Amino acid sequence: MNALATKDVLSALSVLPEDMWDVQDDKCDCVYQRIGFWTNPYLSETLEVRMCCIWAELYKFFPQFVRVTPAFYDYNRDEWESEPREWTADFDMPPAIWHRQLARAERITVAEAREKYADKDYLRPKGVKRPEPEPVETVDPIGILFEMVTGLAEIVSGIANRLDAAGLASVLTGEDSNSGAAESDDHGANQISDGEVAP
Ligand SMILES: [Zn+2]
Repeated sequence: MNALATKDVLSALSVLPEDMWDVQDDKCDCVYQRIGFWTNPYLSETLEVRMCCIWAELYKFFPQFVRVTPAFYDYNRDEWESEPREWTADFDMPPAIWHRQLARAERITVAEAREKYADKDYLRPKGVKRPEPEPVETVDPIGILFEMVTGLAEIVSGIANRLDAAGLASVLTGEDSNSGAAESDDHGANQISDGEVAP
């Protein structure tokens, strides 16, 4: 890297932002923070624009086109709610939202709320822990099949033993003990002797 490039990098480093602008960074007093963000590796430039602040300036020129209603419109129930709701999320209320809720509830500006509660962060609404969901009984189809197969195997084995004891083991193999012509003499002899052993 040549000296000029090194100088460029160092000067660039000195102006790199510590953090990115964010819609909840509380760095302006706009009720709805809105940030435009563009970045491109091939252009090596990042553009952040606080759209909310620019719009706020524009609103001053066109008041006839701006309407602010001090209420929340519940679009699911088609109703207006004129008081800020209690915090019910499962995470702590972000400071940016808290300051704006305080401003609304106490009829003061966002800047005044931020200053008034600067050392009272312990009052910031905490997240509400949701109850743990009941564990759902799950069906294990492989386990059920395994139990069925094991049970069947025991039944078959019991039948085989009884057939064997009755000298009818060939029933299981599909061989017909009466068609002895195609079978070995030993096989037939076993069947006869087994049959004689049985009571
Ligand atoms: Zn703003």
